[in-house]
Parts: sequence; C-alpha cells; structure tokens
Amino acid sequence: MSEKFQAVVIGGGPGGYVCAIRLSQLGLKTACIESRGSLGGTCLNIGCIPSKSLLNLSDEFHKVKSLSNKGIEVGEVKLNLPKMMKSKEKAVTVLTKGVEFLLKKNKVTYIKGTGSFKSKDEIAINDDKKNETIINAENIIIATGSVPVSLPNIEFDEKVIVSSTGALELEKVPKKMVVVGGGYIGLEMGSVWSRLGAEVHVVEFLDHITPGMDKEISNEFMKILKKQGINFHLEHKVEKVKKNKSGATVSTSDKNGKKKDFECDVVLISVGRKPNINGLNLESIGIELDENKRIKTNNSFKTNLDNIYAIGDVINGPMLAHKAEDEGIAVAENIAGQSGHVNYDTIPGVVYTTPEVASIGKTEEQLKEKSIEYKVGKFSFMANSRAKAIDDAEGFVKILADKKTDKVLGAHLIGPHAGELIAEIGIAMEFGASSEDIARTCHAHPTFSEAVKEAALSVDKRAIHS
Ligand code: FAD
Ligand code: NAD
Repeated sequence: MSEKFQAVVIGGGPGGYVCAIRLSQLGLKTACIESRGSLGGTCLNIGCIPSKSLLNLSDEFHKVKSLSNKGIEVGEVKLNLPKMMKSKEKAVTVLTKGVEFLLKKNKVTYIKGTGSFKSKDEIAINDDKKNETIINAENIIIATGSVPVSLPNIEFDEKVIVSSTGALELEKVPKKMVVVGGGYIGLEMGSVWSRLGAEVHVVEFLDHITPGMDKEISNEFMKILKKQGINFHLEHKVEKVKKNKSGATVSTSDKNGKKKDFECDVVLISVGRKPNINGLNLESIGIELDENKRIKTNNSFKTNLDNIYAIGDVINGPMLAHKAEDEGIAVAENIAGQSGHVNYDTIPGVVYTTPEVASIGKTEEQLKEKSIEYKVGKFSFMANSRAKAIDDAEGFVKILADKKTDKVLGAHLIGPHAGELIAEIGIAMEFGASSEDIARTCHAHPTFSEAVKEAALSVDKRAIHS
C-alpha cells in the first residue's frame, strides 16, 4: 500500500516549502517532494540568496576602495574570489539547512526525489538511485518553479555562455562580459562583475532597461549604472553567439540592421525564465496550460482538475519569491477551507543594485493607459539629511495618488535602502491609505524614510525640505 497524505507539494522552493509548512500548521498530513537534494528552490540555491550575497560582497569591495576619500585609510585592497564564493556558499548552506529544520519542526515529511504524476492522485517519486516510490494524495500542489531560457541555437555551457547559475559561480573575473537582457538578472549580475573589475556591456532588445518599471525610474537607473561604468547597447538584437579560444563573439544588429560584434570572455544570457514542467507528466492527467505554457489556474490556484493546484513561477504573474510564498500560504488556507487571498496590486519588486530600485502598484504609464487621473509627489534623496550625512544621496522617491481621492496607487523608488522603504508603502496601500496618511505619519529623523514622507507631502506640493 502506498503512503497516503492529505496534501503533497511538488517542489521545495519558496512557494512549495512555505505552502507545506502552512498546510501542516492547518492540521493536514503533508509531504514536500524536492529533486535538488537541497530545499529552498531556485531562490535559496541559485537565485535570490547567492546573488544578494555577491551583490553585498562586491559592493563592500567596491566601497572600501573609496574609503580614503572619507578619511579612512586602508591598505591595498585585493580580491580573493574563491574566498568570496565560499562566503556566498556558506550563506546558501545555512539557509537551505534552515528550511530543512523548519519542515521537520512543522512535521512536514520531506521526500527527496523527482515527482511525476502517475494519476490525478498518485505521484511517483524517483530518487537518485533510480528507486521509485508511489505516494497517494488528496490534494496536490505543483510548485516546480522556473528555469532560464536561452536564445535560439544558443546553449548554456555555464562557463563561457552562462545563465544566472553560471554567473554566480565564475572562477575568475571576466575581462569583458556581455550581458544579454537588461532585466533583473542582467543588471544585478552585471553590477556584481563590473564592481569586481569586468568591463560589462548590456545588450538590450528594447529602447529601455527593466521593462514594466516606471519609465522615469528606469531612465534614472540606467543613467546611474552608466556612471558606474556599465555600457548599454539598447535596441540591439543578439543574432549569434559563437564560442572561440578566448571566449565568445556575440553578433548583434541594431534597429537599422547595423551589425556589431562583441568579443568577450563570458556572455550572460538573461532574457527571462520559463516554467519548469518537464517530466511532471502533466499531459497524462490532462492539466491545462495557458498561452505562455504556464499552468492555468483560477483565483483559488486550482487547475482544471479539482484536487490539483499550482503556485509560484510555474503559474501566471511576476516570477518573484515573495509572490510564490504568498500564493503558497493562500492555497494552503483555501485547501483547509479558509479564504486565502493574494493582492496582486501590492506585490513589490526590488532590484538589489546600488542604489536599490523598488516599485509597487501602478506606474505612471499604466495610469495613463487606464485614463486614471493622478497626482505625483517626488522627493530627491539629495535633500534627505541621512542620505547627505553618509554621502549616499542618489535617487528619489515618487508616489502616485488618485487625483480625487488621494488614495496611493503606486510608488517607485531609486535610492539607498529602497527595497526596505517600499514596505511602508505596501502597508499603506493594503490599508487603502491616502498620500496624506503617509505625510501625517511621524517618521524618525534622520532616516531615509523621511524621503517617503516628503514625497507624500509633495503630492500636495507641500514638501518642507525641497
Ligand atoms: P523555485 O524556487 O524554482 O522552486 C521550485 C523547486 O522545485 C526547485 O527546487 C526544483 O528543484 C523543484 N522541482 C522541480 N521539478 C520537480 C519535480 N518534478 N519533483 C520535485 N521537485 C521538483 N526573486 C525575488 O523575489 N527576489 C530576488 O532577489 C530574486 N533574485 C533572483 C536571482 C536569480 C539569479 C534568479 C534566477 C531568480 C531570482 N528571483 C528573485 C526569483 C525567485 O528565485 C523565484 O521567483 C522563486 O524562486 C520562485 O519560487 P518557486 O517556489 O515558484 O520555484
Ligand atoms: P527579465 O524579464 O527581468 O529581463 C529580461 C530582459 O531581456 C528584458 O529587458 C527583455 O527586454 C530582454 N530581452 C529579451 N529578449 C532579448 C533578446 N533577444 N536580446 C536582448 N534582450 C532581450 O528576465 P531575467 O533578468 O532573466 O530574470 C528572470 C526573472 O527572475 C525575472 O522575471 C525576475 O522576476 C526574477 N528575478 C528577480 C530578481 C529580484 O527580484 N531582484 C532578481 C533576479 C531575477
């Protein structure tokens, strides 16, 4: 007899493991299947955590070199890349082991192996010794995440032609690196290697970077990155990447058909990710996909089959860890008979460069497109005393509020700690706050958060410090 669970989650990433914990908290006998041999998914193993570790370390390396300008004399600053990589790996191990502990603590059965559907309530699990076990589940949650996409006829070797996974593990600093795609991964990993000494060229198909982001922020972001030494080639299409003895030649053409070749030692292809559904045997049970080949679900995360659900990168919406986590909690609560819900209007997005870029709610472009009348409040970090005191004053806060009701509709920040500051606006938006609510809330002095308050004041043209 195969073991029977009330709920089985396939995938132990931020969507899957959080969902499994919540299901168990709600009293369901739950298992979580993970094929990687380590929990935490893309995020903890090859995504958010290792990239943030390298972003932080490379930023420290870069900043320490300029400390003498501020009266702190340091000796020669040298990079020890293997040691830096070890530090990154330590962060990953501590956190992935931490998730294993959390599953145990919450009485979730952790099953190592690759899961695939045998029927709509049976899952076959194959381990690395080729043993197959079948388990039975009343409810099944697919949380198998996503994998990087490449360009036609270009294959990752993870040494010269790399995805983010290879870019997190380079053994030496490339002299020249071409980054294809000016999105989240391209700009974060491009920043890391640029700070460590690589000449970085970003080749972007569109006429701007970070598509979907508020245009004013995106323009400012590119200006700042350019000042940091990153080169941008907008409206350029990559046609071919050919490996050679010293690296690769990246052949591009611009919007007028003008060709340009880039010689480099490493090329990072960061043009997006696709749902990871291979090997799940979805066809055999008739699970429907949407037009982007992501698993189709309704508002309750249910697929076209009654007892099968899907969450995270494998379904529609932004491919972000916190979105996957919130969906994991919501679906668990729905399965347990509660009313789980995710508010897609208040999911923040953060790019962890220096400065950070953070966004929530509607952009100006979206408001215009929907003909929603709005007011704009802006405040520069140049006028924020904390930012000036520590000489970290690039960027600004922008708040968009409804013209009639003053309700906050969106906020877009570029500047120090933008990724933390955005949480305040998230709470405000969840409570349906007006910009005046933020403006009348006392903010500690001197803090970066005063820039948020001043931007809120500026919505009604009454900022004090500008
Ligand atoms: P995943 O994290 O992809 O987890 C799915 C898991 O399922 C994987 O571990 C996989 O091994 C397992 N699996 C797949 N198939 C099977 C199977 N058949 N059987 C068993 N197990 C299976 N997001 C942020 O919010 N902030 C960031 O800073 C950030 N940085 C990122 C940096 C990089 C370089 C990358 C690549 C991504 C980053 N992301 C970030 C995105 C984030 O990692 C994903 O959105 C998030 O991990 C999605 O969670 P998930 O649970 O849906 O899937
Ligand atoms: P992305 O969607 O963020 O950016 C892809 C970029 O590549 C876009 O600017 C697009 O216009 C460009 N592009 C597409 N095809 C191209 C081509 N042929 N030539 C040149 N440019 C091309 O994708 P990504 O950077 O690969 O990241 C994947 C996902 O991972 C993102 O959706 C993001 O949600 C997630 N992620 C998040 C974070 C974070 O939250 N800080 C960090 C890394 C990754």
